[in-house]
Parts: sequence; structure tokens; C-alpha cells
Amino acid sequence: MVIDFHSHCFIPDVIAARAIAGMAHGVEGELWPIGDGTLGNQISQMEHDGVDMAVMLPIATKPSQYKVILHNALSIREGAFGEKAKRMLVPFMSVHPLDPDLEKHLDEIAALGFRGIKVHPYYQNFSLADPAVWPMFRKVASLGLVVESHCGSDVGYPGRLDACGPDDIAVLLENVKGLKFVAAHLAGCAGFPPHATDRLLELGCWADTSALARDWMKDEQERICHSWPTERLLFATDFPWVKYSEAIRWVKSMRAEEDWDAVFSGNAKKLLGL
Ligand SMILES: [Zn+2]
Repeated sequence: MVIDFHSHCFIPDVIAARAIAGMAHGVEGELWPIGDGTLGNQISQMEHDGVDMAVMLPIATKPSQYKVILHNALSIREGAFGEKAKRMLVPFMSVHPLDPDLEKHLDEIAALGFRGIKVHPYYQNFSLADPAVWPMFRKVASLGLVVESHCGSDVGYPGRLDACGPDDIAVLLENVKGLKFVAAHLAGCAGFPPHATDRLLELGCWADTSALARDWMKDEQERICHSWPTERLLFATDFPWVKYSEAIRWVKSMRAEEDWDAVFSGNAKKLLGL
């Protein structure tokens, strides 16, 4: 079984076209999407490459987006986008740190049975190391929700390394005990000194294996995926920016076959309560 812990699609299709075009423009010359950003395209590529489930990660770039993100997530779960989407997608929620109804919304997310939230410190303009956001993460921890955070550099924010690198994650986890934190992109290793991320292991952090480009800090990406304890790694792609078949091949090449069950689905099942 294969579970992708990090994917994006956009609802409705007309929004997908706009979102993908906007992002592709922002990273022009660096990256090109391999899917069109629609839910249907994601499902068909998952089926083609043998991916059973994918965590779908929205990002609330403004507090007001909570409502539409919730509506979309509930629609998927209720089958409004078909039985396959209902079975194969695990929608996460997203809240903005400046949401005036933050506590209420986090309670609602947990009460509705969502497993976690996505945060993106650059898109949402905050730092994981800023004490102002720790109450939000303490609330998330108390509700038992998972946080999947963008980590490390972001191609859309060139030169920025100040919000969600290994040191910022460590400060957060030292101050918010019990937080289930999944650090995307091999714990944000790209752009930071080798081995900086290893400190996160003591803090109970998971790393997702997605990377938009395997040649950025290639050695460090390979070292983490190869050497971190099996139970701390979650297979992930960042689809539609990376092809499923390539992401699967890369992770398989990094780990012994006896680790595949845990990395490709076992660890994710535990975190998602499946
Ligand atoms: Zn992503």
C-alpha cells in the first residue's frame, strides 16, 4: 500500500487552472507541474502509479479562506467528488494564524474528525520560532491533530530561510510539547548546513520525503532519507509538482525493502488513525 502524505489539488477545476498557472509563473524556469492541479487528474495519476491514498493539503493564505477549505474538505469526505475521491483522498484542514476565530475553528476541525492541518510559514507570513504562534500549536497538540508544515526554502520565496528551517522547527518543538509535527521536504534540509536537521529526531519530528528537486542539497536529502530511523519517515511527493512513479522509485532506492511498508504506508496509517 502507498500513501502520499503531501499532495495538492484544487477545487473546482477552474480554480485549479488559475492556481497552477499562478504558481508555475512564480517559479518560472525552476519547476513545471506534471499535473493540471485538478482532483480528477490527481486521482487518475494515483491510480496509474499505484498510489492508494493521498493527504490533500490546502493552505489558508487569509483567515477568511477557512470556510471554503472546510466546505471542500467536507464535500470530498461526503462523496460529492465521487467514490474514488472519497476513498483515496485524506483532506487536511488549514487555519491562518491571524484567524480571529482560531480556537473555535481548531475545535471544529477536531470535532469533525479531520486528522490534521497544513501550515506554510511563507504563504501565511509567520515563523515557527515566533512565540506568538505557539498558543495555536499548543491548541493543535492538545486536540491531537497532526501538523504538516512546509519546511526549508521555498522556490517561490528565493533567499528566504528565516521561518521554517531546522532551527525554527526545533524552537517550536522545544516549546510545544507533544505536537505531532511532520516537517515537509525531508525536514527542510535544503539550504541549511548538513546534519542540522538531525536535532529534530530527539524532538520526535517526522520528515516527509517530498522534494521539488532532487538536486538541491542532493547529498543531504539522500543522507536523511537513507539514514533516519524508519519510523520517522513518511512517503510524500508534493504532487502535482513531482511524478508519483519517480518519487516512489527514489524512496525505494534509499531504503531497504524491509522498510518499505512503514515508510510508504505504515507510519502514515498510525498518524492518520487508519
Ligand atoms: Zn506542498
